[in-house]
Amino acid sequence: MSIVVQKYGGSSVADADGIKRVAQRIVNTRKQGKDVVVVVSAMGDTTDDLRDLAQQVTPLPPPRELDMLLTAGERISMALLAMAVTQLGYEAQSFTGSQAGVITDSVHGRAKIIDITPGRIEGALKTGAVAIVAGFQGVSQDTKDVTTLGRGASDTTAVALAAALGAEVCEIYTDVAGVFSADPRIVPAARKLDRVSTEEMLEMAASGAKVLHLRCVEYARRYNVPIHVRTSFDYVEGTWITPESEQDGASDVEQAIISGVAHDRSQAKITVVGVPDKVGEAARIFETLANSEVNIDMVVQNVSAASTGLTDISFTLPRDDGQGAMSTLARIQDEVGYDKLLYDDRVGKVSLIGAGMRSHPGITAKFFTALASAGVNIEMISTSEIRISVIVAEQQVDTAVRATHTAFDLDATEVEAVVYGGTGR
Ligand code: ASP
Ligand code: MG
Repeated sequence: MSIVVQKYGGSSVADADGIKRVAQRIVNTRKQGKDVVVVVSAMGDTTDDLRDLAQQVTPLPPPRELDMLLTAGERISMALLAMAVTQLGYEAQSFTGSQAGVITDSVHGRAKIIDITPGRIEGALKTGAVAIVAGFQGVSQDTKDVTTLGRGASDTTAVALAAALGAEVCEIYTDVAGVFSADPRIVPAARKLDRVSTEEMLEMAASGAKVLHLRCVEYARRYNVPIHVRTSFDYVEGTWITPESEQDGASDVEQAIISGVAHDRSQAKITVVGVPDKVGEAARIFETLANSEVNIDMVVQNVSAASTGLTDISFTLPRDDGQGAMSTLARIQDEVGYDKLLYDDRVGKVSLIGAGMRSHPGITAKFFTALASAGVNIEMISTSEIRISVIVAEQQVDTAVRATHTAFDLDATEVEAVVYGGTGR
């Protein structure tokens, strides 16, 4: 029998009614003769609420205990969901990440999956039961402690399980009807994409599109897992994410050059002013940052002024790493001999993504013209084969996204997007 993995996000199981509605969907899939494995997130804002609670007890909760606490959220939803499925006359068994065989490294708060040994899940399926697995958690191979995989990582649990079980599809149920050409909260005329290549989805997720967790898309690409992103509040088809090579040629004719516009408000920009323009300076700066686990995104180095032999290096990084990076850099000021550091966290990133831009010249020009016409100043630029990203002032992000969406004819004639649930917290 073929296996379907279904992942339900927190907004789909926010209350008892939500849990019953999801149980009905699971049963409907079971009735189609599929084996169903469900991955579930914590109810509504539970994970945030648990974090707040920990903060009230101590400003610095021990990471091991914080993970133990946060994994409780998914235990609640998985057990309730198993009860609701049973109530509908079908067998169901819930499993923690550890029981489901999600083996991770031992980095609390952002553990990486290193292996999946889903023996118990397969056992449950054999007896005809629906297996319900707690998302976002696993168990450390070394310490045997409970770990979490990072915020939003239930998506990753689902795709990893789908890969390990050889599932035909991993369905990700969320509070919007699929992947949109832009965030419908900013662009009401955003359109639902019927399909997106895994490569494009990777760029979108990395550029701030929140609909899927980045690591889940990386996993899907590595193991060739087709993903279907859709809503649990409706029975409409969502967005299929499959490798480009597997998307049928016929519809390629209609394939838009640009798939979407993503944005990210979680970045900050640091400028190292007056760096001596000689061999090894950039290496020194970025090596130091790497050693303190700071992830760098865009980097720009200006041409040095001939008269001074000094240059400025700017880069972006996650805002959360900003203060850490500033103090790390301050420590090597004398060694590098730079002038000063500038910090700006009022920036945002706007990215244009589309596999079609490989073969279409002029996309960059059109993008920058759209931004200019909207009065948006570009602070930094970076590109990949299928993406162009710019850093702009934070308060201009919405304007930039809308102007770009319109310039590339992505606006739908009717409003397609419905945001069903979620407090957006
Ligand atoms: N409950 C976890 C979180 O809120 C995991 C998830 O929802 O994917 O981050
Ligand atoms: Mg989520």
